[in-house]
Amino acid sequence: MKVACIDLEGVLVPELWPLIAEATGIEALFITTREEPDYPALMSWRIHHLRKYGLRLTDVQNIIAEIEPFPEAGIFLQQLTEQIGYKVHIVSDCFYQLADPLLKTLGSPSAYCHSLESDEDGWITGCLWAERQGKVEHVWRLLQQNAEVLAVGDAFNDLAMLRLAHHGFLVRPSSATLAVSQDLTVVEHLAEIIEQLHYSNGFVESGSHRP
Ligand SMILES: [Mg+2]
Repeated sequence: MKVACIDLEGVLVPELWPLIAEATGIEALFITTREEPDYPALMSWRIHHLRKYGLRLTDVQNIIAEIEPFPEAGIFLQQLTEQIGYKVHIVSDCFYQLADPLLKTLGSPSAYCHSLESDEDGWITGCLWAERQGKVEHVWRLLQQNAEVLAVGDAFNDLAMLRLAHHGFLVRPSSATLAVSQDLTVVEHLAEIIEQLHYSNGFVESGSHRP
């Protein structure tokens, strides 16, 4: 079994919160895990500011409805599954309530996210965290099942899973992430991952997808 554990935001789709910040004009929402690695603290900050500025879950969902995956994302997932034989697991610290429309656009791959809690008035009140000690635990469980694991991510919260997987690729990291990732393979485009997997599989065959 080959499983690709792929981060969502920053890899397949844009970072959602800066776009939410842009759409709402709320400066405080521009901060992401690239700047603040303490994710529960960051989410408490975001939830506090949404409430402060009168934004309910549906308001945030309406903003996200306008966001599209990166143009290279669809073809990447397709090549990964059809050419190289990976099952795709989206392993994300995003929330189902926000990620769902984007996942649908990407062909509804299996996804492992957190959940947002909201009250009867539609205010976001908290987070229901997935039962894992970070994304690395998802990879660890797959390794226990003897899976061959590929991991792709872009930020601090991806580094441990990238290091544990058989193949790990860091996509367009921030300078802060890059500074602590000298041991990892960095790519600018997802197509480079497909290319490197083809080479490491040793089949430089005559397929039409080779340059
Ligand atoms: Mg990310």
